[in-house]
Amino acid sequence: MKQTDIKSLVNYVALKILGGSDYLLEALEEYLVKGEGPATVAYKYNISKHQLRGYAQRIIEKSGSEGKAKKLVPILKAISEGVKPIVRKSNDGSYECSICNIIVAKEDSEEHIRKYHKEILNENINMMMQKLEKIKQEIQQNRAVIFTSAS
Ligand SMILES: [Zn+2]
Repeated sequence: MKQTDIKSLVNYVALKILGGSDYLLEALEEYLVKGEGPATVAYKYNISKHQLRGYAQRIIEKSGSEGKAKKLVPILKAISEGVKPIVRKSNDGSYECSICNIIVAKEDSEEHIRKYHKEILNENINMMMQKLEKIKQEIQQNRAVIFTSAS
C-alpha cells in the first residue's frame, strides 16, 4: 500500500488556503467524504468540476488511497483552523495580496505566496504539523485507555 505523504499534504493544503482557496477542505469534505455530486459542490464553491476533481486527485495521491483521504480530510480541516488566506478574492473578482496590496492573477497566487511569503507559509505548516502531532498523541492515549480497561 502507498504511504501517506503527510508533509506534502500539509504543504499543499497550507499553500491552497494562503493562496485564497480557503474553501478547499470544505469542498473536499462534501465531495469526497459525504459523497455529494461534483456539479453541486463545484457550483457551491464557484469552481469547475474539473478543478474539484483535480483537488480530490491530489489529496488522494498524497494520502496514499481514497480511503485514507476520506479519513484525512476532516483531520486536515481541524489542523488548518486559524490558517487565513493572504491572497484574497475581492468584490470585483480579482485576487489581491493583503500584505503587498497588489493584484495577483488567481493562477499565480500560490507562486506569489511561495516566492514572497515563504516564512508565513512555513510558520503555518509548522503550526499544522504541531497540531497533527497533538491529535496523534490523543489517539494513542485513547487507545492506551481502551487497552487498560480491557485487561
Ligand atoms: Zn504578497
